[in-house]
Amino acid sequence: MKCPFCGDPNTQVTDTRENEDGDVVRRRRRCPKCDKRFTTYERIDLKMPHIVKRNGNRSEFDHNKLAGSMQLALRKRPVTTEAVEAAVDRIEARLLSLGEPEIPSQQLGELVMKELKKLDKVAYIRFASVYRNFADVDEFSDVIREVQARPRRGRKESPGQPDPEHDLFGN
Ligand SMILES: [Zn+2]
Repeated sequence: MKCPFCGDPNTQVTDTRENEDGDVVRRRRRCPKCDKRFTTYERIDLKMPHIVKRNGNRSEFDHNKLAGSMQLALRKRPVTTEAVEAAVDRIEARLLSLGEPEIPSQQLGELVMKELKKLDKVAYIRFASVYRNFADVDEFSDVIREVQARPRRGRKESPGQPDPEHDLFGN
């Protein structure tokens, strides 16, 4: 490591220690030329990959947005917020472990479906049936919101047979 004060390339490490979690290494260095001291930190470079949509646009992975989409699919289903958060955490950990700078949105969609399948079958079907027809996970929320906002046309309800999917897909 080059000395930040005089530019000498031969600095010496005088002390090395890890933090408690072992994920940061701190090194004290000394420049033999100008005798100045400085500290460097070494960390694992883990970054969330960008999500590449089918249209080629890139977006940041957004934990809250993804949790929101999953909550929408899980609307009125007996699944706790905690369980959804844990599922999003697993997806996030999985994406991190890929070590890729970017991943296709389809791959994220598959991970979401896998988690929803474990959480709740109805939510899984809701998500899958909408998602399969649309390009990206964040479009899923847009489509669901659109469907929910659409005014109901004079549809004949058959009493005694409420269909929970009506609310979601309006068909
Ligand atoms: Zn120096």
